[in-house]
Amino acid sequence: SLTAGVVAVQGDVEEHVRAIERVCDRRGRSVSVHEVREPGVIPECDVLALPGGESTTISRTLHRAGIAPEIREHVASGRPLFATCAGLIVVSADAGDDRIDELDLLDVTVERNAFGRQRDSFEARLDVAGLDEPFPAVFIRAPAIDTVGDATILATVDDRPVAVRQGPILATAFHPELTPDDRLHELAFFEPEPAASSPE
Ligand code: GLN
Repeated sequence: SLTAGVVAVQGDVEEHVRAIERVCDRRGRSVSVHEVREPGVIPECDVLALPGGESTTISRTLHRAGIAPEIREHVASGRPLFATCAGLIVVSADAGDDRIDELDLLDVTVERNAFGRQRDSFEARLDVAGLDEPFPAVFIRAPAIDTVGDATILATVDDRPVAVRQGPILATAFHPELTPDDRLHELAFFEPEPAASSPE
């Protein structure tokens, strides 16, 4: 049986729990999902989600609660991490905000609230690399990715990357947990990025 964790500092935790239960059910996998508020839980987890919410609060609390080093170890051991919206901001290399102590696990820089007033919140049917049909993506005061180092871009809006993958991490600027479509949870947790093929 799969053990999943959802970092439950703040934000849309319940929605991730339900999405994980749904996708496991669909694939016939039994799962127990833990809401992570304290150290000691993440080391037991096979997969981990870092939800959206308010990134300065999430960042501060992760560090204060002593959860940040466990997220690093989780990723270092190659176990999947799915970071959405504020989660993307927190795992980035640079969010351009002194109040955020980035985990620097994903080789991207981000701009918070990048889509501006006109498009504060919006929905888009996004083409995502690895999915056959467009994904219904809900953006809420979403960040955009500014620069991409080692990560692979999976989707863009107005030419700005909004979904990327790097090793065990999949990160989106939008909120897949807010729609019934769980294909990105599936991609993040069950279809890890193929290892780069070695040169001949
Ligand atoms: N605007 C939020 C932030 O910068 C992120 C929004 C979200 O997670 N929906 O923290």
